[in-house]
Amino acid sequence: MNEIRVGAKNKGTRPVLPRVFLSYGRDDVPNVGECGIVQSLIGMTTEELQSVAVEVGQPAYRGKQLATWIYGRCASDFAQMTDVPKAMKERLAENYVVTPFSVVHRDTAPDGTMKYLLKMQDGQTIESVYLPYSERVSVCLSSQVGCAAGCTFCATAQGGLSRHLTAGEIVGQFLTLQGESERRISHAVYMGMGEPLWNYENTIKSLRLLGSEVGVSLRNLTVSTVGVVPGIRALSREDLPITLALSLHAPNDELRARLIPTARKWKLDEILDACEEYAEVTKRNLTFEYLMIGGLNDSPEHARELASLLRARKLPGNVNLIPFNYVMTSQGYTRPEPDAVQRFRLELEKHGRTATQRMTRGHAISAACGQLKRLLTTPKKIEAHEILPLVR
Ligand code: SF4
Repeated sequence: MNEIRVGAKNKGTRPVLPRVFLSYGRDDVPNVGECGIVQSLIGMTTEELQSVAVEVGQPAYRGKQLATWIYGRCASDFAQMTDVPKAMKERLAENYVVTPFSVVHRDTAPDGTMKYLLKMQDGQTIESVYLPYSERVSVCLSSQVGCAAGCTFCATAQGGLSRHLTAGEIVGQFLTLQGESERRISHAVYMGMGEPLWNYENTIKSLRLLGSEVGVSLRNLTVSTVGVVPGIRALSREDLPITLALSLHAPNDELRARLIPTARKWKLDEILDACEEYAEVTKRNLTFEYLMIGGLNDSPEHARELASLLRARKLPGNVNLIPFNYVMTSQGYTRPEPDAVQRFRLELEKHGRTATQRMTRGHAISAACGQLKRLLTTPKKIEAHEILPLVR
């Protein structure tokens, strides 16, 4: 079997991953470097920026200056770097850009949620969401252009996968939103477009950059997965105290496979084994995401089955209930009744599992994954009622 070793740091101690894990279902997924794109400085470590400074004939300390502008002050253009010599900026501009994309659309919901559509150099677009709460500000980041997971409830899945995002394109989303925010962004969730663990190396590099260069506490970073087993096992050995969120969405394999096609490849037993290993090695609790769809997976029986599935394992962690955010699907999925969500939560709690209901944010701006991109970039005219969420 072809095998590759991930990352450069801690060589020899990190797992060797089968190649198929990086592009499950697609062997031809291009990385951005293969698309003939000018490299962005966002995405480089301070050491890498120091090398770039030397490469353009400047002392290494100028690289630290670049890092301060990019990660500390969210500069998106060389012109903003007022204490960097003009000659250096001109040399840099020959081979590099600062930021890998531009904002082409932004919408604000009455609750303050902001949805961004970002256009990259190859013309591809991705979404990011700014989520202000009273006590903190979080952002939801994309990790790929599109997604290959094919979840039947998801707007992103309907366009398939185009390519992986670079670490710079992932961190750049955070910095772009921070640059426009008066409040400090303290949290980030990798729950936008894409499956982060299929873009493993760039996801890991972006997490390290957010921690070491941007200064976000790693404990405030959450990576969500549909259950990419080799990725979960690899992540447990990265020495990154982040939170892992498993998208469960169903308490058994049969129902889960109707929602997440990858459930046919990795069964719950195997996924939860990997999660147990993750919890044991990292000493971190997991979060279990449970998307509730009306009449499909929202009954008290499902809640009991879910509680018993998790109880059978040494798996501490909260269940996060997410009422379905409407998007047109051929299955005709609907939001669950508020009473059903409440009953489900109480049933879980009765069986010893804490559960929270995720606040629905940005209803008015298509804030669920993939909705805005589909609305703005699909050539065929889509009627608003097909894609905008139903506001209850
Ligand atoms: S829900 Fe997430 S993993 Fe599933 S298709 Fe959508 S973006 Fe991919």
